[in-house]
Amino acid sequence: MSINIKRPNGTEDVTPKNVHKWHTIEKIARETAESFGFGEIRIPTFENTDLFLRSVGETTDVVQKEMYTVKAKESEFTLRPEGTAGTIRAMLQNGLLNEALPQRVYYILSCFRHERPQAGRLREFHQFGLEMAGSSSPAADAEVISLAKTMLDRLGLKNIELYINSIGCPACRAKYHEALRNYFNLRKEELCETCQERLIKNPMRILDCKSPVCQEIGKNAPLILDYLCEECSEHFEKLKKYLTDLDIEFKVNPKIVRGLDYYTKTVFEFVTTEIGAQGTVCGGGRYDGLIEQLGGQHTPALGFAMGIERLLIVMEKQDCDYLVPKKCDIYFATMGENALEKAMKLSKALREYGYFAEYDMMGRGLKAQMKYANKINAAFTVVLGDNEIESGIAKLKEMEKGTETDIRLDEKFAPAFEEIYFDKILDIMEEQGGDTLFSFTGEDN
Ligand code: ATP
Ligand code: MG
Repeated sequence: MSINIKRPNGTEDVTPKNVHKWHTIEKIARETAESFGFGEIRIPTFENTDLFLRSVGETTDVVQKEMYTVKAKESEFTLRPEGTAGTIRAMLQNGLLNEALPQRVYYILSCFRHERPQAGRLREFHQFGLEMAGSSSPAADAEVISLAKTMLDRLGLKNIELYINSIGCPACRAKYHEALRNYFNLRKEELCETCQERLIKNPMRILDCKSPVCQEIGKNAPLILDYLCEECSEHFEKLKKYLTDLDIEFKVNPKIVRGLDYYTKTVFEFVTTEIGAQGTVCGGGRYDGLIEQLGGQHTPALGFAMGIERLLIVMEKQDCDYLVPKKCDIYFATMGENALEKAMKLSKALREYGYFAEYDMMGRGLKAQMKYANKINAAFTVVLGDNEIESGIAKLKEMEKGTETDIRLDEKFAPAFEEIYFDKILDIMEEQGGDTLFSFTGEDN
């Protein structure tokens, strides 16, 4: 019997060749979130299943079809299908909501959903998300949307549209549900099995069904915006005004109801048409009832989550810039044991200065070592042989230009290298017209 050691369907590996793309998103996500006053939270990969049943909602695709649930002895756990439930649970359990409000946390984490794998739809995927708790003001909605927009802009993404909607509060939704039931009851038999159940439990979910038949039937369904109570309506108008004031373009799309049960009032999505069906790169909204539902005091809150793999697909498509992966600053080609020992010592000193130094560990000949240095794109090389060890002086070669400088092989090596290196950086900055966004040394990686 052959052993299957391939990775499971719907999962991906990230190798060092590609990881700088992830670092780019993670760095920009952290910086953007922190500039809006959010701090990072880290939560467990799995939670008690009940947490998701309670919060995500029993009529959602996620709970009905997509959860990875594990029975362990007496307990039952579920791998997190999203970040909000665990984050709110953690905020409650750690007393964050008793501190000064609003409480603002962000996260970068993996999620697990048993879906049919395809481009932009994985079984293990990653989200950058955040939650803000404590404010019921539409200013908070504008703030969170503005953060998402800032992040997408900083990544250099284009042609991403913002859709907003309000799905009201439980009061306006009761009337809306009634109108939806009346509408869908007329074609009840044509709806998919899940939607027939939704018709009883949560008819709004039908509008979010991916089946083309249900979508077609839903085309002329009543719109939630016609059923908003005064408070919800005012909230939505204020949000639109704030977004306009902030020069954030948006479209009202009354069909957006969002996949999870916990939303109230504002819901929004950032969508691109450039990557096919999986074009929603960010989804979010307000969930004023969730914290209470999970055992806390009534606390209005809101948040969003971005799919990192989907962002990467769009970035690739649009040829966006990434952080430059760190390259070898200096490579020592060594001949003989004494030279190797010298290279080790000098590398140690250079690394203390923050440089990426490397020497041969494969026992290659000199020619092969230089070939390797070229292959890894080393910025500088030094050849160390018996002559250099004896004289205490070697030639530091700048690989791109081919220029050589004498350099002493003593404790002054690292500071001397730094000086020469700094001149090179100045040269490069001049050539690039002073563009230092992505640093040459890779310090920012
Ligand atoms: P979709 O309608 O595409 O299934 P969703 O409503 O289920 O999305 P959310 O629960 O709102 O998605 O998750 C937030 C974001 O996480 C999505 O906008 C998307 O970018 C990303 N995402 C969701 N599911 C997946 C998945 N299976 N693979 C990759 N990314 C995903
Ligand atoms: Mg989904």
